[in-house]
Amino acid sequence: MKTITTITELRAALAEYRRAGKTVGLVPTMGYLHVGHMELVRRARGQNDVVVASIFVNPLQFGPNEDLSKYPRDLARDQAMLEEGGVDFLFSPGVSDMYPRPMETVVDVPKLGSELEGSVRPGHFAGVATVVTKLFNIVQPDRAYFGEKDFQQLQIIRRMVEDLAQPVEIIGVPTVREADGLACSSRNVYLTTEERQAAAIVPKALAEAERLVASGITDAGDVEKAVTAFLSTEPLARPEVVALRDPETLETIHEIGDKPVLLLLFVRFGTTKLLDNRVIAAKSARFAKVA
Ligand code: AMP
Repeated sequence: MKTITTITELRAALAEYRRAGKTVGLVPTMGYLHVGHMELVRRARGQNDVVVASIFVNPLQFGPNEDLSKYPRDLARDQAMLEEGGVDFLFSPGVSDMYPRPMETVVDVPKLGSELEGSVRPGHFAGVATVVTKLFNIVQPDRAYFGEKDFQQLQIIRRMVEDLAQPVEIIGVPTVREADGLACSSRNVYLTTEERQAAAIVPKALAEAERLVASGITDAGDVEKAVTAFLSTEPLARPEVVALRDPETLETIHEIGDKPVLLLLFVRFGTTKLLDNRVIAAKSARFAKVA
């Protein structure tokens, strides 16, 4: 694996493969890798001739009071993991490589980007859309890999690619979980031992929601209330968002019908906010119960 930090060098390195008709897969990350990231790498390795992973902690997607400076970093460890995963090129630019001048041009996501996580992190998804577009322009991948763990981000990127006719196929990868069901996340390292144990309530709440829907509850508000109450049985858990939405448009759902619904959870443990989600196949779940 070759580590490259400048746009010019990466473009030059990839040009010969592109001329030879090789396919390129891109896995964008902010580093401090875990098995979830490595699943994206595994998928990319299986589907492309050349695999590029990027590590860039993107200042554009962090608000003024967010954890940019203390975001966990360990480049040497990440490099060893990516090498092991069969990555060909690691692109790890510095901020001055990606943004030599303050950005005058950005990709905005006014509606999808102001829902849910966007409502508490103004500008976050515009920062994501802008850096991902720039990475697409630099790497020109045939396929790019994103985790379903960040469901809103995945849908925003799918929509951006459609809206702007970006020539890349977006592959969504199911969430990789730890033994107790907690979604792997770089931010899990912020949890104290007690908070880490308590956090197991989050995947349990997803299962509880699925159970409630399967039992025949169709009022979305009732499910949201019951899931909030379930989470609140854990004293360290502070549920911030418990929302049933349309998986594609992220619009609010009032009545659970025949179509799948997305349950999104943001739950705070101390200073750490954990995100998780599950798409619940409403009809088939109820069907299974009746049958
Ligand atoms: P991040 O480094 O947090 O920006 O994540 C980089 C990519 O890895 C994003 O597409 C995430 O959705 C994805 N990702 C993060 N955690 C997981 C996980 N537990 N399972 C699958 N993908 C993940």
